[in-house]
Amino acid sequence: MNQRQLFLQHLAQTSDTPLMLQIERAEGIYMFDKEGKKYIDLIAGIGVSNVGHRHPKVVEAIKNQVDKHLHLMVFGEFIQSPQVQLAKAISDTLPQSLNSTYFLNSGSEAVEGALKLAKRVTQRTNLISFQNAYHGSSHGALSVCGNEELKSKFRPLLPSVYHLEFGNSAVLHQINEQTAAVIIEPIQGEAGIRIPHKEFILALRNRCTEVGALLIFDEIQTGFGRTGKFWALEHFGVVPDILICAKGMGGGMPIGAFVSSTENMALFKNNPMLGHISTFGGHPVSCVASLATLTVLLEEKLIEEAEAKGKLFVELLKHPSIIEIRQIGLMIAVEFTNYETLKPIIDALLEKGIVTDWFLFCNNSMRIAPPLTITKDEIRRTCAVILEVLG
Ligand code: PMP
Repeated sequence: MNQRQLFLQHLAQTSDTPLMLQIERAEGIYMFDKEGKKYIDLIAGIGVSNVGHRHPKVVEAIKNQVDKHLHLMVFGEFIQSPQVQLAKAISDTLPQSLNSTYFLNSGSEAVEGALKLAKRVTQRTNLISFQNAYHGSSHGALSVCGNEELKSKFRPLLPSVYHLEFGNSAVLHQINEQTAAVIIEPIQGEAGIRIPHKEFILALRNRCTEVGALLIFDEIQTGFGRTGKFWALEHFGVVPDILICAKGMGGGMPIGAFVSSTENMALFKNNPMLGHISTFGGHPVSCVASLATLTVLLEEKLIEEAEAKGKLFVELLKHPSIIEIRQIGLMIAVEFTNYETLKPIIDALLEKGIVTDWFLFCNNSMRIAPPLTITKDEIRRTCAVILEVLG
């Protein structure tokens, strides 16, 4: 049996139309298959490779750490320098109240930890999230997802979860004294890049403060420079009570985290003691990769350039079949009439060596979220191919 057959037979299949690329090597914005065909990665492994594939500084940090130690102990017991340094560096990018980090291995896990912390802090039970939100696939994270189709066959999920309309300040009165937390993607990703008005996020912050509910920002997709700021919260001038990150944070290694105040996190210490436990959370190799990623993002000025690069996509992608482009930094959705129009375009681009995708809850829009290292020249050449495919 060849690899393709083995893939179909022995790996769990989650869709009838997997992309099935067989990539052997990747570097920067490029991926190379077995035959040496070169692909431009316009989606960065779904918002992961913000500093490009195998950034030399990330690879070097990983190699150095592998020669020192791998897993030593569960999270929170030993003083492991990769964790300590990364936690400090993350605090340095954030407002002062967000200065204590719990490391995990994925976005969903970080969402679970954040929801538990909110319940522990407020001693309340209700959770609020938004329609079309995506927060992950584990039971708790799925409970706060705002898409019924994804959830319905997996009930019972968490009780007392309510969904509000994203971007509508008029519904915020539904956040009340029973609400433990409101979880929101400050810019919705899988809904097809939905950018709310600043006033909405400000009103949300005010309402949460008013009723004593914690505000949780899921920055799993928006964090680490994707939107042209290190954190999307900087666009709104708002400080959440808990911030969640993952994806781009690891520079290609698996890691997630939730960040809050030292006082909030301290509640995990007692009643019950060890209120949140993770064996692999903050794996040293992932932590050094993440610290290198953070350093590269800041030193190479990749974040400052993201907005201009995103704008260049918008400027170049002018075509009658494009209905709308929603863009912030290098987080872009190009909307077409419907899935039937878009599917052959994505297929044709793949044929021409450009990897794009659609969104979980928005199948008429094309996802463009390349590594932030993409150059303006590469953007011009890529857009020329896209326009050629559009005809
Ligand atoms: N939240 C958001 C906003 C996401 O985009 C994702 C992943 N697409 C998740 C949570 C879940 O992260 P993971 O797949 O690492 O569990």
